[in-house]
Amino acid sequence: MLKIAIQKSGRLSEGSLSLLKDCDVKFSKGKGKLVTPAQNFPAQVLFLRDDDIPQYVEDGVADLGIIGENVLLEHTCEVDLIKRLGFSKCRMSLAIPRTEAYQGVSYFDKKRIATSYPVILQKFLDKHNITAEIHSISGSVEIAPGIGLAEAVMDIVSTGSTLLSNGLKEVETVLKSEAVLIGNRDMDEKKLQILNQLMFRMESVLKARGFKYVLLNAPNKNVDAIINLLPGMKSPTVLPLAEQGWSSIHSVLDESKFWQIIDQLKALGAEGILIVPIEKMVL
Ligand code: ATP
Ligand code: ZN
Repeated sequence: MLKIAIQKSGRLSEGSLSLLKDCDVKFSKGKGKLVTPAQNFPAQVLFLRDDDIPQYVEDGVADLGIIGENVLLEHTCEVDLIKRLGFSKCRMSLAIPRTEAYQGVSYFDKKRIATSYPVILQKFLDKHNITAEIHSISGSVEIAPGIGLAEAVMDIVSTGSTLLSNGLKEVETVLKSEAVLIGNRDMDEKKLQILNQLMFRMESVLKARGFKYVLLNAPNKNVDAIINLLPGMKSPTVLPLAEQGWSSIHSVLDESKFWQIIDQLKALGAEGILIVPIEKMVL
């Protein structure tokens, strides 16, 4: 039985739940429940505060955990980073009052900086040979300059609107973070076997996320040119249409590439283009 810890509620919950769901690990998330068994996989899901997860995984209370990379780096626990998961992406940045001129990191020398992530900030300052005073606070970091607690802040930024409404501007990216899967270092053979099964599923789900299945109709004379644009996994499928002189082409495509080639596809006479999500991809 593998115990998987995910955030109870917050910015990691939705992504963690849908990743497990896509891996076909089914469970009911009853209100206020702390632990729930998976119905069709040898696992239990634990719902915890994200900050507690690294320690629980280190202690073996949970075998696996899904947390932000930022939390992993802040807690410096003895756990393995098993896989980056590609969701809950965010950045941690240094911000200063909007009216201040900024010429580079030396700005922070001898300044007071408020943050909830003192370990990550200290590492960044050391790397740049900056001596600053770190004020560790647990929430609402962005109000610190306004109330005279600090001259700068280091916090998670998504759109920057919270900084802006507090009269701050972002001047330095300290860390880019995403959700990661962490694991206990002493799992027994049985647990490692279940982990292998789960990783196989997770990898096929994560691989599929960046890709789409493309179907289109094209005149036969342009099939070769279209195949060049849509290389597919091995090579595209080409099937004759009932209408003479036309074929249907099926392929797999990196989603971001689609918008780059759509005009070329249309110029080659492609019609009835369908873009379909792929649930899992096993290569
Ligand atoms: P908890 O109550 O579990 O302690 P929390 O308030 O510490 O929750 P959240 O705000 O839910 O945490 O953020 C959890 C994680 O999600 C962060 O550590 C970070 O990795 C990521 N995250 C935070 N803010 C954002 C954002 N705006 N966009 C995307 N991901 C984010
Ligand atoms: Zn937290």
